[in-house]
Amino acid sequence: MPDSTARDRALRLAAHHESVLFARHVDTTRAEALGRLGINTIGDLLEQPPFRYVDLTEVTRAVEARIGSDVTIIGTVHEVKVKKPKPRLAITEVTLVDPTGCVVGVWFNQPWVAQRYRNGERLAFAGKVELDRGLRTMKAPFVEKIAADAPAEGRILPVHHSTEGLSPAWMRRLVAAAIDDFGDVPDHLPTDLRCARGLVNRSRALRDIHFPATMADAEAARKRLAYDELLASQLYMALRRHVLTREQAGVAHVVDGPVGAAFRAALPFALTDDQRHSIHEILEDMATPRPMNRLLLGDVGTGKTVVAAAALAAVADTRSQAAMMAPTEVLAQQYAGKVGPLLDSIGVGWALLTGSTTPARKKSILDEVAGGRITVVFGTHALLDAHVRFKRLTLAIVDEQHRFGVNQRLGLRAKGVAADLLVMTATPIPRSLALTLFGDLATSYLRQRPSQTSGVITRHVKPHAAAPAHQAVRAAVREGRQAYVVCALVDESETASAKAAVREAERLRTEVFGDLRVGLLTGRMSATEKHHVMDEFRSGRIDVLVSTTVIEVGVDVPNATVMLIEDAHRFGLAQLHQLRGRVGRGEHPGEVWLISDPRTPDAKERIAALLSTTDGFELAERDLAVRGAGHLLGERQHGLPDLRIADLVTDLSLIKQAREDAFALVDADPHLSLPQHRPLLERVRRIFSQAWEWVSSG
Ligand code: ADP
Ligand code: MG
Repeated sequence: MPDSTARDRALRLAAHHESVLFARHVDTTRAEALGRLGINTIGDLLEQPPFRYVDLTEVTRAVEARIGSDVTIIGTVHEVKVKKPKPRLAITEVTLVDPTGCVVGVWFNQPWVAQRYRNGERLAFAGKVELDRGLRTMKAPFVEKIAADAPAEGRILPVHHSTEGLSPAWMRRLVAAAIDDFGDVPDHLPTDLRCARGLVNRSRALRDIHFPATMADAEAARKRLAYDELLASQLYMALRRHVLTREQAGVAHVVDGPVGAAFRAALPFALTDDQRHSIHEILEDMATPRPMNRLLLGDVGTGKTVVAAAALAAVADTRSQAAMMAPTEVLAQQYAGKVGPLLDSIGVGWALLTGSTTPARKKSILDEVAGGRITVVFGTHALLDAHVRFKRLTLAIVDEQHRFGVNQRLGLRAKGVAADLLVMTATPIPRSLALTLFGDLATSYLRQRPSQTSGVITRHVKPHAAAPAHQAVRAAVREGRQAYVVCALVDESETASAKAAVREAERLRTEVFGDLRVGLLTGRMSATEKHHVMDEFRSGRIDVLVSTTVIEVGVDVPNATVMLIEDAHRFGLAQLHQLRGRVGRGEHPGEVWLISDPRTPDAKERIAALLSTTDGFELAERDLAVRGAGHLLGERQHGLPDLRIADLVTDLSLIKQAREDAFALVDADPHLSLPQHRPLLERVRRIFSQAWEWVSSG
């Protein structure tokens, strides 16, 4: 690349935000294809990493390729054939020979592969070596044609995701051109920081991630680009935390008032150490005039509710107001049901506001909330409605369970003036994810369970051998206890499967448990109906609650000790763990029966994981490793951009470094306004443009 001036570099960087149509070789058809790969701008093209490399610098001889290893073998095509052992099966085999032996590339039902390669042609195969009837084979290997005049070895070729109309070879050509034209850019990272972290410069990273000379260069490039992503997200978190907690005068709550004392005296049990510690951290935050921004993280059954209630008592002592928002109506009702009586006993006024509150009742609640006569409002996202106005809201508690996003979380808080925010989640999340997703929040952990709760035993049976599970339900009922039966989680929008679940529930009710009092809860029922059924169950008028949905199981009925989960393999690991936490909450141990015939390795793994541990954090780490972050997060409601390069499983130490650096930068320069920080600011601002208002306005 010719010498370039700073101006040229700046212009090239500006071009990264332009449509990919401005890149060489890209016409509207190719731009469309790129769009399908999530590549819309020139920057996207440069930053989309290859998903693997064909390493021609390290070629393995066929005879030395170990079974199970991932290698590159170069040779000459000896034979191409298509076999049709069965009517609907076509197997293409391409045999490659090198001076030591041969390897066979195998493709199923892709007859066109046979058209691509000719005898005598030189190819490289890259992939995992398997042994099949004494022959070394590779299933659908990555194939690279080695041009006759090209030096055969000594190169590392990137393989990018490709799509119809855009082959890997073309992708490589487009990326190479874009690197030439736009790859030499200024580095947004201050040099001292870059050197301190041992990172290569940005231009070099952009080039080496695609066209490295060695695999070590590729890794160095990946590390730099991953760091850039993580630093941007941590800077966003640091800026937001700064705005939320430093720049606004919050309310200094009265945390040692008479209501707080009455609350502690009214507790029916002794707090666990974790609860006491969390309450202490929360009240300490609330007592300062800076707004609180804190996450309460605790597995199901660790007793988060009472911790939240302690914060509510402080609000009452401060003569201000609190809102507590839950993700579903049932959960909101449950909070009201559990905390409400406690508040009543210490003379704190409260109300419940949900989508099904009648208009008349709603109007009177709104009036009282606006007038300050109600101290605590429990509710669903109905609380975010513009008609809900507080006289003086100083505490927002949001129980997320991942169903709300940043915007709703802060939206509730914004109903007060710099109100304290307490976010709760019952989904144990791995540390890397917590830092990425909740990086602007300080964290309180509840790890212990109250000793009075006796834990859960998990068992697995196949559907045709489910009798012991059914007997366990009967045995529990005989002893005056209750049971849940959770039927296949069905997407309630799929009418057919929803009906199947309801049918199964009916069958259980009439045939299997015909002699017991069985209640039915389905996702199709109205909130009032659900509420009614839950009441019947809670008060013991129903022995067995059959449910076709998981939304409603955020319930707390200590007398329920047995849970059957039908088709357990259909649920995610986190969900199964959440479900399991519904029993064993009282003085009797819980029993969970997973009824399932898992067929896929993934499903088997999930069942095995549940049988092996009850530690939610450990399960979450496993889930993250097996299924990736997207799965843990569920629907993309977190409102934050995806990570393309950084990996939440393997990059934990890089996440911590980026976090440390980001918070130090913002500490030293709270608005990143110093000249050497401007490029960083511009970058973060661009990446987080959708959620920027929370940084600029709080
Ligand atoms: P979470 O919301 O974290 O899943 P909850 O707050 O619903 O858990 O509490 C679970 C159960 O444990 C409830 O029945 C609650 O009354 C009870 N509980 C909470 N803290 C204690 C404690 N320190 N000692 C005994 N029981 C407790
Ligand atoms: Mg709870």
